[in-house]
Amino acid sequence: MTTNLSDLIRNIPDFPIPGIQFKDITTLLSNGPAFAQVIDTLAERYAGRGLDAVVGIESRGFIFSAPLAYRLGVGLVPVRKHGKLPGATHRVEYELEYGSNKLEIHRDALPHGARVVVVDDLLATGGTVAAACELVQMAGGTVEEVAFIIELSFLNGREKLAHYPIYSMIQY
Ligand code: AMP
Repeated sequence: MTTNLSDLIRNIPDFPIPGIQFKDITTLLSNGPAFAQVIDTLAERYAGRGLDAVVGIESRGFIFSAPLAYRLGVGLVPVRKHGKLPGATHRVEYELEYGSNKLEIHRDALPHGARVVVVDDLLATGGTVAAACELVQMAGGTVEEVAFIIELSFLNGREKLAHYPIYSMIQY
């Protein structure tokens, strides 16, 4: 039996700031069969594609990328917020609605030419994942696809990701 995943995603109005409708996935994560369904769906999609690694974006992207990497039998490469990775890093700064953010990847995280899928929980404006894809390229990898559990289609994040195939499980 399959669960309608969108029934398990909770809308929290005005979080973290007024005017934002936050998509809360904790209500999906706490449902064992639904969480398994998400990971199984991703694993079925990416099995047999010859991927070398799964790249997960801090922090909610880690929740999905780690079990996916395990299921695919490949490594997990974290893209983290500035200052969190201990080794030498590549860094990309990108604009948010207010201010900017910096993401990093270890310079030696990927073998040259590694083919990866980049995973995050949600695609909004696309700035976060576009920065992560740039980091993958700087580290010598190739992005085969970017994958999300949720896509907020009305924010047109796909426009920032024109170079990459995009997969999302639930669209709003
Ligand atoms: P963006 O860079 O605009 O695509 O924002 C994507 C990142 O911000 C993801 O890592 C999400 O976890 C988070 N995010 C943005 N908007 C929302 C939202 N409405 N609900 C939950 N998370 C969000």
